[in-house]
Amino acid sequence: CGIFAYLNYRVPQTRKDIFTTLVKGLQRLEYRGYDSAGVAVDGCGKDDKNSICLFKKKGKVKALDEELYKNDSLDLDMELDTHFGIAHTRWATHGEPSAVNSHPHRSDKNNEFVVIHNGIITNYKELKKYLVSKGYEFESETDTEVIPKLIKYLYDNRESNCVSFSTLVERVIQQLFEQSVLSFNALHSFICSRRGSPLLIGVRCQYKLSTDQIPIQYNSGEINTPQCNLNSSPNQFCPLNAFLHSDLAIIEHTNKVIYLEDDDIAAVAEGKLSLHRMNRSAGEDPVRVIQTLQ
Ligand code: GLU
Repeated sequence: CGIFAYLNYRVPQTRKDIFTTLVKGLQRLEYRGYDSAGVAVDGCGKDDKNSICLFKKKGKVKALDEELYKNDSLDLDMELDTHFGIAHTRWATHGEPSAVNSHPHRSDKNNEFVVIHNGIITNYKELKKYLVSKGYEFESETDTEVIPKLIKYLYDNRESNCVSFSTLVERVIQQLFEQSVLSFNALHSFICSRRGSPLLIGVRCQYKLSTDQIPIQYNSGEINTPQCNLNSSPNQFCPLNAFLHSDLAIIEHTNKVIYLEDDDIAAVAEGKLSLHRMNRSAGEDPVRVIQTLQ
């Protein structure tokens, strides 16, 4: 029901600061009504610094907030240079309000890919049946969980090592109807798509951009990922702090925003933002403009 994400790229912040930003973002969405809340952050593992951890709670954001600070496996004063977190408030449509049914949902026990989502996946039953027949195990009763499982399925069956995360997510989204989806992996990259519910990206660049026009790529949607350097480059370079919200409350953090349109896919990886458009039709405006809110 409410989506919020925050990426700090090469801007050292403590984990406590990051949690505070995420929780505040969710509290801004409380007026919409919801029954549970959750966050996912990276940099959690002891050995694998990139690994993602999830915190989910039935009830108010305040209950989730308390849960975050109760957690003694994470050092809250630890400074993180580049860090990513996503947060969600849920209005249950499939599966009762409970911690396990709360978002984010994950691809597997290692939390390789995690997803938050607004809306209803009308064709989730067929997708779930198919994935279960392929051996993927579900832990919740939600429609949403098919998204991370489908990303994992496509990842496990990818045709080459250089299929990017963005491409995987785009392929999954094309299997769904009317969704706003946000997904991220442990490499500080996140992908979001807009269909239906509004989504905007707030950016806080570390230097002045030479243009506020962001060209849209229409084709493959590939982005550079640390594992495989694909040739096509992101269309906007801006070491950035990115915020993603379904609400204008983003103004608390930055007044520079990009409104996504239906079928837009935005990817942020390594501090670079790239925008793609699915299902292009001729004559569409090929740019999105960074707007300055007053
Ligand atoms: N259909 C999803 C669920 O029940 C998402 C609901 C929402 O938009 O909060 O978990």
